[in-house]
Amino acid sequence: STAESASTAASAVEPEDATDLLGGLDVETSEEIEIPERLVDQVIGQEHARDVVTKAAQQRRHVMMIGSPGTGKSMLSKAMAELLPKESVQDVLVYHNPEDGNRPKIRTVPAGKGKEIIEAHRAEARKSGQFRSFLVWGLIFLILGYSVLVSGQLLLGVLAAGIVFLLFRSTARRSSALVPNLVVTADPDSTAPFVDATGAHAGALLGDVRHDPYQSGGLETPSHDRVEPGAIHKANKGVLFVDEINTLDIRSQQHLLTAMQEREFPITGQSERSSGAMVKTDPVPTDFVLVAAGNLDAMEHMHPALRSRIKGNGYEVYMDDTTEDTPEMRRKYARFVAQEVAKDGRLPSFSRAAIAEVVLEAQRRAGRKGRLTLEFRNLGGLVRVAGDVARSEDATVTTRDHVLQAKRRARSIEQQIADDYIQRRRDYDVAMIEGSVVGRVNGLAVMGEDSGIVLPVMAEVTPSQGPGSVIATGKLQEIAKEAVQNVSAIVKKYSESSLHERDVHIQFVQAGQGGVDGDSASVTVATAVISALEGVGVDQSTAMTGSLSVRGDVLPVGGITHKIEAAAKAGMKRVIIPAANLQDVMVEDEYRELVEIVPVSHISEVLAYALDGSPDVDSPLGRLLEIADTVFDGVGRG
Ligand code: ADP
Repeated sequence: STAESASTAASAVEPEDATDLLGGLDVETSEEIEIPERLVDQVIGQEHARDVVTKAAQQRRHVMMIGSPGTGKSMLSKAMAELLPKESVQDVLVYHNPEDGNRPKIRTVPAGKGKEIIEAHRAEARKSGQFRSFLVWGLIFLILGYSVLVSGQLLLGVLAAGIVFLLFRSTARRSSALVPNLVVTADPDSTAPFVDATGAHAGALLGDVRHDPYQSGGLETPSHDRVEPGAIHKANKGVLFVDEINTLDIRSQQHLLTAMQEREFPITGQSERSSGAMVKTDPVPTDFVLVAAGNLDAMEHMHPALRSRIKGNGYEVYMDDTTEDTPEMRRKYARFVAQEVAKDGRLPSFSRAAIAEVVLEAQRRAGRKGRLTLEFRNLGGLVRVAGDVARSEDATVTTRDHVLQAKRRARSIEQQIADDYIQRRRDYDVAMIEGSVVGRVNGLAVMGEDSGIVLPVMAEVTPSQGPGSVIATGKLQEIAKEAVQNVSAIVKKYSESSLHERDVHIQFVQAGQGGVDGDSASVTVATAVISALEGVGVDQSTAMTGSLSVRGDVLPVGGITHKIEAAAKAGMKRVIIPAANLQDVMVEDEYRELVEIVPVSHISEVLAYALDGSPDVDSPLGRLLEIADTVFDGVGRG
């Protein structure tokens, strides 16, 4: 009956046809899908964050966004800049201060005015410059003429002319010093500024004054010309986006907070020993809305005052990782493909089936039935690689086949390591995929986020010097050790006598790559130990994963799809999985034919499938199952 349920399970996960995956959308290619104009309308899912951003834009409040990378934090911040009123955008000019050259003056003017002012100053300087050079060259000509023709003292004349020339140069410099420095220019016709200050060093964030190598002697660059704005100044009247906010050093976070509170912040040299550090401007406006982003970890390492400033004066919002898989959502995912194609500008549009394949991938990556992943950066990467594959073939349309090729190509680092690992193990023949071995079970583990590997577990039972203990070797992570302990409790429970005064050794074979994902190995460990204890062989063409309760129930685990695919790739014939995970299985077609998926809900079923021999009452296996059944029934098998 278990085999039967396995085959119905397999058909339950057949891929739906394209129309279904497109949520009934009736288009031939992605080109026909309309893309909304406003960025905020292009955002898919994240309803809560979208509402918050819209509200925060109206009220000019700060926002803290917590969530996984690539789920739209930066996109929503840009969208917020679009929603801010743009009338108030400003240009900022820095003027020479005649009273104190190291204290440049600041002037703010409406956007667009700055350029006009600079132009006017330049024209003025040019005019007076022309007039002066006319005078100077006239004077030099006169001196030289006089010295040659009248007094005959050529040397003295050249000397005098030189002095006049140098005097002229220094006054010219001084007059050019009067042209202000336009440090912030806003475009009156576009949206409010959006400035991404992620990973910015102090100078880039807070502004800086360049070092002047010639600090005196008339050759120096006037200090106001060396002033450079920071992100906080460029974001004035707009949005300042800082991702991974916790990586900003504490001093910078402190200054950021000051800028938010005062809405202005002077620019000074950031490197202490340069001449720039002597210069400090009047305060420069920093009236921005801060969008701070990061993962959960970010909040912990954030400056507490900065965090409470946002909390008290703004919003905190969590980004979703997945969204509900509805026809309406699927239509939006189809639009996502169109958006990414449009954004890139060079990719051929996607066919129906190609779009459907991307939606299918969004389902698979969600890892949960009835959900779609919201990690769009990765999904966008798939779209781009698929389009590039199509382009490299000079195709006019990106097809499903291109997407499938892209999936193979765009493998994560973890997947590539796993592939390499599997390949190497094949070479060394470590992965046994046929025959029967006592105490050896092919378990399955997840590497990174999205790669499965076959991870053999070996168990051996030896006479003990003491009361007997469970010894785990190999690179085990803490959770794995715990799993081992749980398993030993079960094993002890039903064959107490045989474990007495014996040591059980458990080894994860070649778990070198990142260790074992704890719990999901406990069914494997239990099977290996039982096999070793009873001397019954384990079928090596069967792989398994599952977590074990103390009652012997097989509980669901993560990464089920990746694990099944790994088993198929390694050449396994059968995969035993927790029945409760059946709904999470989204195996690609190419693997579907290769492996049989066997859902189980109790350890006795695992043993029945994996251990050798017919479960006759007289065979060792039969006896074993009988013991197992009585014991687990006694404990209260649910
Ligand atoms: P984050 O800032 O959260 O790391 P981004 O906003 O930079 O992620 O997302 C990267 C890209 O992925 C975006 O430029 C956009 O193309 C796409 N993207 C991310 N989230 C969404 C979303 N919710 N809806 C549509 N596209 C998205």
